[in-house]
Amino acid sequence: MTRPTFQIDGKPVTFTEGQTIMEAATAAGVYIPHLCHNPEFEPHGSCKLCTVKVNGRNCSACTFPAADGQEVLNDTAELNELRRTITQMLFVEGNHLCPSCEKSGNCQLQAAAYFLGMTDAHFPFFYPRRELDASHPDILLDRDRCIFCALCVRASRDVDGKNVFAIGGRGIDSRLIVNSPSGRLADTPIAATDKATRVCPVGAILIKRHGFEVPIGERVYDRHTIAEESLEREEP
Ligand code: SF4
Ligand code: SF4
Repeated sequence: MTRPTFQIDGKPVTFTEGQTIMEAATAAGVYIPHLCHNPEFEPHGSCKLCTVKVNGRNCSACTFPAADGQEVLNDTAELNELRRTITQMLFVEGNHLCPSCEKSGNCQLQAAAYFLGMTDAHFPFFYPRRELDASHPDILLDRDRCIFCALCVRASRDVDGKNVFAIGGRGIDSRLIVNSPSGRLADTPIAATDKATRVCPVGAILIKRHGFEVPIGERVYDRHTIAEESLEREEP
């Protein structure tokens, strides 16, 4: 029996019923930029970096179901310009100062910026005032770098069973909330071995006393583009 197929940038992609465009494309070796998507978790569809055109309409590839005969556009100048703008906005909505960040070289936001050819932030920085939480003996939470991907929220709830994190507020007032009476990480059951502490795509959740164990220049995205690394990590 012929398997259902859609076209992505003119390339045929076969898929299994129930797969999203992101899942089918990744399985076929086609990279669609993304930040809040992680194949280990339910899709969230919030960062919009994976916006593709499906039969002429903008859709989030991580949530939109694949269907037979779809015409999908992914790697186009228009879509990459949109993604570059989204990435620039993520930089200015937080406090992203890469040269002083322990995550530099291992950071998906930074790597996506390189991949998309972002050369400056373009917009004025918002410099939001966000609280740093160093209360936990093993974990540092630097909210300045949070991009609200909700991966820690999903990991803590669905894998660790601890429900430590939530996202509150809207727009520039969005905040990562720690679910404890004091609002501090030290007063939650989170541990450094939890999935929630390992899944952050940026430098917002860091394990203490491990900084710069891997030298700059030898980190994941110093050696591979985010497209190469992502396809290697996520292909079934
Ligand atoms: Fe740069 Fe990523 Fe650190 Fe932000 S989290 S400062 S983008 S390396
Ligand atoms: Fe995502 Fe990290 Fe922010 Fe959690 S702390 S929402 S994993 S960026």
